[in-house]
Amino acid sequence: MQTNVLSTVARLSDRHLLDETKRLAARERDVTAELIAHLAEIEERGLHRVAGFGSMFEYCREVLRLSEHAAYGRIEAARAARKFPVILEMLSDGSLNLTTVGLVGRHLTRDNYREVLAAAKGRSRREVEELVARIHPQPDVPSLIRKLPAPKAVAAQDTVLPAAAATPDLSAVPAPVLPPPPPPPKVVTPLAPDRYKVQFTVSKATCDKLRLAQDLLRHVIPDGDPGAIVDRALTVLLENLTKKKFAATEHPHSSQPPAPGSRHIPADVKRAVWNRDGGRCAFVAEGGRRCTERAFLEYHHVEPYAVGGEATVENISLRCRSHNGHEAERFFAPEVVRETLAPYLCTNSQTRFGPSSLSAAQPP
Ligand SMILES: [Zn+2]
Repeated sequence: MQTNVLSTVARLSDRHLLDETKRLAARERDVTAELIAHLAEIEERGLHRVAGFGSMFEYCREVLRLSEHAAYGRIEAARAARKFPVILEMLSDGSLNLTTVGLVGRHLTRDNYREVLAAAKGRSRREVEELVARIHPQPDVPSLIRKLPAPKAVAAQDTVLPAAAATPDLSAVPAPVLPPPPPPPKVVTPLAPDRYKVQFTVSKATCDKLRLAQDLLRHVIPDGDPGAIVDRALTVLLENLTKKKFAATEHPHSSQPPAPGSRHIPADVKRAVWNRDGGRCAFVAEGGRRCTERAFLEYHHVEPYAVGGEATVENISLRCRSHNGHEAERFFAPEVVRETLAPYLCTNSQTRFGPSSLSAAQPP
């Protein structure tokens, strides 16, 4: 059956494909919630021990063939759901996912669970981490510059558990100790409202720059706080990037109008487009959803440059790279775009003109 699935799927209409995918995702959520309810009951009855396993984790790995990550997430969810069964309903209807339950589960109490689960509904991982930081604030971490051991040892030694997991609320989790799952590499961890731990590795040259900046700023930042210095550096960097990439300036002056047929987009047009589109992709799907992408933005010709589209504020709009390519495919034949423009789409991240403005593309 499995080998035929791809050919069956390939024959579906776009509408049917999207509907069917939604239906499958809903079914998967139902099955997951049901599986979690069963796991909770197995653990309650101790059936994994009867079957010869020292922990639910081992049972899930060996009998149910779950990955370490999947086993850990489902066991955490089962323990939380045993205390707060509403979690199962929320997993089933999609208002919570397993990642969210894993993050908030151990912070739920009889007093806060309604409020916390409602606040976590439909939130991204980052938003849920911030929610946890509010419920269970952590102290600031000390600033630290440390020479790391040779790369091979780094992976083992430099693994840092998320702040929330570092001091688990043991009273909330009565269960036997599980082997901890490998935590995802994290750069930013919310600690408390408006407090974040940021962790990364830099070269010696960067470290030297930090130390020099600490010395030069000693009169205003006496303790040399790297967080304060990084904030200053990022402020200058962002001003600089905005000016360069999007022609934003505090003292705008009108540019020369482009020569007729020119591919050049004047700075004042870029500025106006950037401000009008709010610095994010302005693609709006048929159902009305607007793309939220802020990275790899390109200036897109609504009427393509190749068919005489001008570089005016009305005809230029921001698109992420993916949607700029999509627009080009909608206008030109997809195979023309893929074959002729693929190299530009993949490599020319700094391009100020999207594929639709490249003269290589011809209308069908
Ligand atoms: Zn987009």
